[in-house]
Amino acid sequence: MIIENVQVFREEQYFAPGEIVIHDGVFAKTANSMKEEVIDGEGCYAVPGLIDLHFHGCAGVDFCDAKGDTLRKMAEYEASVGVTSICPAVMTMGEEELLAVMRTARNNQDGEGAKLTGINLEGPFLNEKKKGAQAAEHIRNCDLKLYRSLQKESGGLIRIVDLAPEKEGAMEFIEAIRSETVVSLAHTLADYETSMEAFRRGASHVTHLFNAMPPLHHREPGVIGAAYDTKSCRVELISDGVHVHPAAVRMVFRMFGAERVILISDSMRATGLGDGQYTLGGQEVFVEGARAVLEDGTLAGSVTNLMECVRKAVKEMGIPLEEALTCVTRNPALELGIYDRCGSIAPGKAADLVLLDTKLQVKAVYINGKKFIPPC
Ligand SMILES: [Zn+2]
Repeated sequence: MIIENVQVFREEQYFAPGEIVIHDGVFAKTANSMKEEVIDGEGCYAVPGLIDLHFHGCAGVDFCDAKGDTLRKMAEYEASVGVTSICPAVMTMGEEELLAVMRTARNNQDGEGAKLTGINLEGPFLNEKKKGAQAAEHIRNCDLKLYRSLQKESGGLIRIVDLAPEKEGAMEFIEAIRSETVVSLAHTLADYETSMEAFRRGASHVTHLFNAMPPLHHREPGVIGAAYDTKSCRVELISDGVHVHPAAVRMVFRMFGAERVILISDSMRATGLGDGQYTLGGQEVFVEGARAVLEDGTLAGSVTNLMECVRKAVKEMGIPLEEALTCVTRNPALELGIYDRCGSIAPGKAADLVLLDTKLQVKAVYINGKKFIPPC
């Protein structure tokens, strides 16, 4: 198949006019001489399928519902908005509930839509004083035994583990798991020194920078300053226009450089629906417009999908399109260790592709070279 007349987002992170060739579900270098199906791309941008490595739910379901069709509904919604790989996040819950989420994910990976590429364990190893919308009663110290049993139950799907490095036993825990999963600093009160120590021990990621951590202070730079000083560390950013001020988003792109930023949606179950009352991790959430809050006003995830976060970053925050795209394709693929098979348009990689018009609206989505048609 050839998709011609498109602006191709190349692996080197710039656009060039050209065509896309797909054979047997993967991108190919050159077209076969005859009998290719040719599609007119109508001047669209052709970009790699997006990768969301931190979101909780959408389309009325939450990953933690742990029902048989939860993942299918999430995967279908995400694919329909151009997100072709997902690494959903669990909230802080009790051990039995977490085990059930892991089991359900392991047993329900073969539906249509976005591909499950991992699980993000956002709780329960967090600081209760920075819990955000996480359930305080289930927050606990870093627990290697619990992590191991969750990892086993998931069939090895856990790719990111969040923790507050000031918690008892956190440093030893980081060293014990660093070779098998990404360790991310999250929901924390850690100071600069503690954060630097965590990065030295093997942490390499920061969860939703600015949110659920102390702000950047000139005498107490905290996690944000330590992340900046650790060049191998990547940071998540929620560019939904609610969680982080546009000026702070621009500052992070300047400070860290686009190659170190990963845009995430952090979306919850109301995403794709409308205003109303929902739940997140067992707590009531009230949604109005782009805001989702607990009863006390605490932000409770976003209601903006990752493609919309890209649109906002580009149109409302002044981030160049090429940089925003790098932060939702190449960077998360590298972080999840899947860049050899997706995250860019390159020969041999899975043909996960999105066609966007000049307003960045999704015109078509291909997964493994097959056009995704959302079920009605
Ligand atoms: Zn969070």
